[in-house]
Amino acid sequence: MHRISEESIGKLKSLGAKKVMIQAPEGLKMSLIGFSKQLEREGFEVLVSVEPCFGACDIRDMEAKALGCDALLHIGHTDFGVKPAIPVVYEPFKIEYDPTRLLKNNMEELKKYKKICLITTSQFLSSIEKAKAILEKNKIKIYTGGHARAGTIAQVLGCDYSAALPFEKEVDCFLYLGSGKFHPLGLAVKTPKPVLALDVEYNKIIDYTKEGEKLRRIKAWHIEKARDMKSFAIYISSKPGQMYANLARHAKKKLEAKGKSVTIIVADMLTKEKIMGMEIDCIINCACPRIWEDFRLFGKVILNPEDVEKL
Ligand code: SF4
Repeated sequence: MHRISEESIGKLKSLGAKKVMIQAPEGLKMSLIGFSKQLEREGFEVLVSVEPCFGACDIRDMEAKALGCDALLHIGHTDFGVKPAIPVVYEPFKIEYDPTRLLKNNMEELKKYKKICLITTSQFLSSIEKAKAILEKNKIKIYTGGHARAGTIAQVLGCDYSAALPFEKEVDCFLYLGSGKFHPLGLAVKTPKPVLALDVEYNKIIDYTKEGEKLRRIKAWHIEKARDMKSFAIYISSKPGQMYANLARHAKKKLEAKGKSVTIIVADMLTKEKIMGMEIDCIINCACPRIWEDFRLFGKVILNPEDVEKL
């Protein structure tokens, strides 16, 4: 069972916090009661948020403040740069993973590429140096870096590929070390270069290049369809790191100048049910920029603010 680090507990104590709210992503929900008991043993009064938590864009600082908490302990993500209403202690969830075997088993495939940009998420950051050394030993030139929003070398977020995209022209492919398709697929949508994942759960390489290309084609088709649509909703999330109100205002002006009917809608998390019965042909998503990929769940065309220019 996972435990809260001494460092985070020390930070909460040095803030003078007495009452703390904890939040964690779905994958760590089974540890939330254990986290709560651990903090209680340290003398804190604890509230556990069980709302879904998708990233450090999604901190529950306002709720914690309204409920009288002095601090929020956000587990599983690094600081996203949100200015919180109360102090937030971030406890990234680290997995000590040795990539040696996985790399060795897939080296023949990887050696087809001479220059690779290596990326990961906060969970697997401690594996990056080892993976880099092994690949370099096999005469592959490795690129890591960029200025990730999270401020850490080689780390990407689903909405921040600044640790990868600056190397697009130089490298032969991008290599993601970690689990899940969300992060490598998000990059594959943004670049025509090959995007491979060294998947630590499936123990193999998964190529996301074609899936990214398919999503790019769907987006182009949706832009085409939206040109003839009349009724637009611009969605802003009330999550503090997804509240792009200025972008929404700007998009509204642009759309109205094109003769569209536009309404700005707000929800913590948008679902099909929340907008059922409303006359909406197309949603312009000014929240998490990855929501458009779930267009099938909404049964509607979803575009991002930058797509408005193309209508
Ligand atoms: S991809 Fe979306 S959910 Fe993830 S950090 Fe970015 S805005 Fe938040």
